[in-house]
Amino acid sequence: MLSDIEIAQRAKMLPIAKVAENLGIDADDLEFYGKYKAKLSDELIEKCKNRKDGKLILVTAINPTPAGEGKTTTSVGLGQAMHKLGKKTVIALREPSLGPVFGIKGGAAGGGYAQAVPMEDINLHFTGDMHAITAANNLLCALIDNHMQQGNALGIDPRRILFKRCLDMNDRALRNIIVGLGGKMNGIPREDGFIITVASEIMAILCLADDLNDLKKRIAGILVGYTYDNKPVFARDLNAQGAMTALLKDALKPNLVQTLENTPVLMHGGPFANIAHGCNSVRATKLALKLGDYVITEAGFGSDLGAEKFFDIKCRYAGLSPDCVVVVATVRALKYNGGIPKAELASENVEALQKGIVNLKAHVENMRKFGVPVAVAINRFHTDTEAEIAVVDQCCKEMGVPYALSEVFAKGGEGGIELAETVLDVLEKTEGQCEFKPIYELKQPLENKIEAVCKNIYGADGVEYSAAAKKAIAEITDLGFGNLPVCMAKTQYSLSDDPKKLGRPTGFIIHVSEVKVSAGAGFVVVLTGSIMTMPGLPKRPSAELIDVDEKGSISGLF
Ligand code: ADP
Ligand code: MG
Repeated sequence: MLSDIEIAQRAKMLPIAKVAENLGIDADDLEFYGKYKAKLSDELIEKCKNRKDGKLILVTAINPTPAGEGKTTTSVGLGQAMHKLGKKTVIALREPSLGPVFGIKGGAAGGGYAQAVPMEDINLHFTGDMHAITAANNLLCALIDNHMQQGNALGIDPRRILFKRCLDMNDRALRNIIVGLGGKMNGIPREDGFIITVASEIMAILCLADDLNDLKKRIAGILVGYTYDNKPVFARDLNAQGAMTALLKDALKPNLVQTLENTPVLMHGGPFANIAHGCNSVRATKLALKLGDYVITEAGFGSDLGAEKFFDIKCRYAGLSPDCVVVVATVRALKYNGGIPKAELASENVEALQKGIVNLKAHVENMRKFGVPVAVAINRFHTDTEAEIAVVDQCCKEMGVPYALSEVFAKGGEGGIELAETVLDVLEKTEGQCEFKPIYELKQPLENKIEAVCKNIYGADGVEYSAAAKKAIAEITDLGFGNLPVCMAKTQYSLSDDPKKLGRPTGFIIHVSEVKVSAGAGFVVVLTGSIMTMPGLPKRPSAELIDVDEKGSISGLF
């Protein structure tokens, strides 16, 4: 089989104006970035705001192996299949970060015959949104340091600045740095650090903002640090919001691209799924719902992280009501959850699969708690055997959950017809009966919200807080942010906070180490264990394999 990039480079793309036209969008409402990418104008959003919404389908997954289990691939393939069935479908995805592209995971535009294209552009600079976010983030940092340099009228304590610089790159050497060295004219020396752009609060804000005014308001509300007498300092105290929003004016517009089979894809925003909420922008999802009868979207990591935050943060803020959840499972990840090491996942092991399948059960049961109908997609790998598929088949029947084998990686839309029909059937049978409800109420105290997620979703017996976390919760509540939703930062490999506890762990406690408020984005980040906000590169980074020839043709991206 060809590699992802080889398949992508053979795609018969339509000019993006044609993809837009098929969705009923005028060329006037497009802002072109070359022939195959465009941003959608604010006027378009205004024009279709009174249209009826399409159906919203969320693609999520079980706890994965470290390689990722195919949510994006399944989202793209399901969209291609619906498109093949003649349904007006729009796919709404996150845009990739350069960190994973040059690190271990590679690209994030799907895989095999289920990809969004132009693959190289999407994975590299795309339409510049990441750069704009990086610039806006770093402008605020420059304003903070400059304020202290110019006399520090606010009395900002250089030891208590929370807001960090960012870069869209895996670069561990920048995690902890000293800035302002070199004497009087070169700033006030202080400890600082970089996070990766997708972990920045600016990214989360861009993805939750309704429009430019809301974007500006949220930016103004970013808590940047504290003064010497312990008062909060917000971005608005530095008058930063206007210029930062100006830098983000175009980045706020959703990007239109297409799949290998010319299905429209809105690819916009890409926050981390641990310290942020892990879904594409509200603006893109809402527009997609106006443009298509069916919208397929993805939330990062397993359903314990991504889907929970999609429901409890994004849907709640945006007033979205999802119509169906597709839980992606792979035989490989279920065997991994049954305790088999990564290297042995390719060989048949029915016993391990039977042991690990409790993980799928947990995710299906959890999704049902949100009142949204669930279907399972088994993302088929060529190493899966009939005996193994039969185990998953049996489990889905026992749970009474509709399911389908998806072969979109190998066959594109054609391989997703069964899944598309399953989803359409679920939507039809549950029409008007879906009663979406978040897992906690905003007015509950922060501890109760945290406990609701830990007990009801992770299956924990309780929550234990570090002294620092307890203090932070009290401070955040005193500042008036106790009514925000919680954004749980946890390992993606386990339902617990220990990546080694696979399957469906019981009898465990969640350890909250740190609590921070993203006051601008509008959530309280709850960290369990040590969560990386600036990843590093592996011993053999993917970057070493990437090349470009004299004609500009890129190889080695995957
Ligand atoms: P996620 O969105 O869940 O992180 P992706 O869809 O990005 O996962 O897939 C992760 C990786 O696995 C990609 O490199 C993709 O090409 C590969 N992949 C996905 N599905 C399959 C499959 N059925 N067979 C082989 N490789 C696959
Ligand atoms: Mg993905």
